[in-house]
Amino acid sequence: MAYWKPEIETMDPKDLRQMQSEKLVKLVKYVYDRSPFYKKRFDEFGIKPEDIKSIDDIGKLPFTRKQDLRDTYPNGMFCVKNTDVVRYHASSGTTGKPTVVGYTQNDLDVWAESLARGMTSIGLTSEDIIQVSYGYGLFTGGLGLHYGSEKIGATTLPTSSGNTDRQIALMKDLDVTAICCTPSYFSYFLEAADQAGCSIKDETKLKIGIFGAEPWSESLRKRIEERSGIKAYDVFGTSELSGPLFTECEMQEGMHIWSDMFLFEILDSETNEPLPDGEVGELVVTTLMKEALPLIRFRVGDLASLDTSVCKCGRTHPRLMRLKGRSDDMIIVRGINVFPGQVESVLVKFSEVSPHFMIVLERKGELDNMTVQVELVDMASDKLDDYYKLKSKIEQDLKSTLYLHAEVEFVTPGTIPRSEGKAKRVTDKRQF
Ligand code: ADP
Ligand code: ZN
Repeated sequence: MAYWKPEIETMDPKDLRQMQSEKLVKLVKYVYDRSPFYKKRFDEFGIKPEDIKSIDDIGKLPFTRKQDLRDTYPNGMFCVKNTDVVRYHASSGTTGKPTVVGYTQNDLDVWAESLARGMTSIGLTSEDIIQVSYGYGLFTGGLGLHYGSEKIGATTLPTSSGNTDRQIALMKDLDVTAICCTPSYFSYFLEAADQAGCSIKDETKLKIGIFGAEPWSESLRKRIEERSGIKAYDVFGTSELSGPLFTECEMQEGMHIWSDMFLFEILDSETNEPLPDGEVGELVVTTLMKEALPLIRFRVGDLASLDTSVCKCGRTHPRLMRLKGRSDDMIIVRGINVFPGQVESVLVKFSEVSPHFMIVLERKGELDNMTVQVELVDMASDKLDDYYKLKSKIEQDLKSTLYLHAEVEFVTPGTIPRSEGKAKRVTDKRQF
């Protein structure tokens, strides 16, 4: 088992807690002294830095939200001078006005270190050739994994997203061993490789994929692994926390979040009380090492659960289990909560359809109507009967997963928009 920083990655949980406490106490003083935003927020809340003596006091601190970053756009929450910021990124704006985030040199180093630990934990080394097919630019995915890859000394191929045929050729010609991109882009990648007559499994050296930036299911992992012969690992992060930060280890049982860098809480969204291991709640994160834009109890907007037991890999840092989707991804159909990821997990079990889909919501009279548009892999079959059987099988499976009837509509292959980054899965035509 290889570690990047064994002394930290396998540190006794008690010592880790102690380290977190010391860092939290310093952090609270740091933001109070340096940021008018935090001083005002703490004052309004009636809290002084000296009230925080350890991480047991975390519940005394006020929350921050994406809205705070929007309200103080572009850099009202920063704790350093503009000249100390060495890089800006901006969030993709999936849920509203984009937010700007900034980094000191040290912030960039810590970010790369987090990924270096993760990449090492899945067996990547300086011998690997890593193709970074996340978008480069304001989006944090590309540059984030780029610097992680360089940190472990791997050879980095900065293809960014798009121009897929060229990417496939480069993967083959340069003996690429790992790829980083969204799971939806990799699904498209496999399809494009098929069309170009290239078998990723047999004709390339690809063995590892690091997929994230959007929710994906365990069944999609299986499908990707079977089709491409690689191991597929989840990676999580958000631009506010830095960018992509945490990957699974070889066990594929959750993503190690580094306690010396971040403090994670899972809270009941209504009571704000902490939830035990395994229970899904709102993810709230405090950054323990960020200098430019530290965040205190940031409500990320994602629903998640933690496993704090020591992992089989020997790492003592908690694991973030597969995310269900962000709280605002959830759609409500006839009063029932639906996550696009649930639909995905059903569809990928059927090899007759492609993993690209679109949920269309309409209102017929008083009732919501949900249609799932999906492409048949092979339209050649002239047996109409087969289509109807398949349609009703998928509809039944959707019903038992969602507790809701959704109509399945087969559309011509290639007509569901392919995404190079985060996929858009819902078209809501309902008028409220
Ligand atoms: P935006 O919020 O504008 O999309 P980001 O690019 O920072 O900006 O996206 C971060 C969000 O992407 C997370 O809050 C989460 O909802 C989603 N995300 C990232 N990685 C994963 C993952 N592995 N599984 C599920 N969702 C993810
Ligand atoms: Zn592990």
